[in-house]
Amino acid sequence: MLHLTSIPDTRAHRQTISAPVALVPTMGALHDGHLRLIEEGCRLADEVWVSIFVNPTQFGPNEDFSRYPRPIEDDLAKCASAGATVVFNPTPEAMYPPGALDTQVDVPAISGAFEGENRPGHFHGVCRVCLKLFNICRPTFACFGQKDYQQLRIIEALVADLNLPIAIQRVPTVREPDGLAMSSRNRYLDDAQRRHALGLSKALDLARHLIETEGEPDPAAVEQAMRDTIAAHHLAPDYAAIRHPDTLAPLAMIDRPVVALVAGRLGSVRLLDNALIGG
Ligand code: AMP
Repeated sequence: MLHLTSIPDTRAHRQTISAPVALVPTMGALHDGHLRLIEEGCRLADEVWVSIFVNPTQFGPNEDFSRYPRPIEDDLAKCASAGATVVFNPTPEAMYPPGALDTQVDVPAISGAFEGENRPGHFHGVCRVCLKLFNICRPTFACFGQKDYQQLRIIEALVADLNLPIAIQRVPTVREPDGLAMSSRNRYLDDAQRRHALGLSKALDLARHLIETEGEPDPAAVEQAMRDTIAAHHLAPDYAAIRHPDTLAPLAMIDRPVVALVAGRLGSVRLLDNALIGG
């Protein structure tokens, strides 16, 4: 496995490869969810490139950029044993050299609500870094987790609308045995918060039950039930919504498959989760 940090070296190496490349963009602190993405990459292509970059432009001023975990040696070992052929691990200065102008790419129709509302500027940063990674690594496939559903939809829309020659591969959310979605931020949780964090997946289970088993047609009723579950687990809810799975637009009635999106805070830790229901 090659560990590359410079953009010119990465481009030069890419030029030597004619086989399809599957890219797995990450911010590191790899867990089994990321490894599932790498596995998917291995299924799609012989060349599996993992980018590890804690992207400063997608963090707000009061967010956890500086304390975000960066266990690079561990991450490299995990990538190697998962079958990655390249790890691209640039510095912030290489990605954003002094004087770089702040190009903005956006999919405003789906980036304004939820994470976009809670984290102003977040999706500008995500879109910018993904386009940069796509241009540097020139992947045929790029694997993204359903765990970050709004991000996944934004990247799918960006690729479709800008005619990027990349197939986006959706990877289902990998969960702990009790249902908590794996996340690099779970390591911030103390024991009590770890128990409370289950409120998010429990809220999604309840939404699935109400829609698929009880046939509840009213999105507002399901949203209220999800909010109650989140609050009962001592999470401060950010949102609990039933939406159209492609446009993330509100629905008057649940008469088609939907996505349920939830986010909440435990102290300074913000967690999110989602589920596709009724498919
Ligand atoms: P991150 O390192 O958090 O930026 O995530 C990198 C990629 O891994 C994104 O496409 C995430 O959606 C995906 N990912 C994160 N957690 C999970 C999970 N529990 N299951 C599946 N994919 C995940």
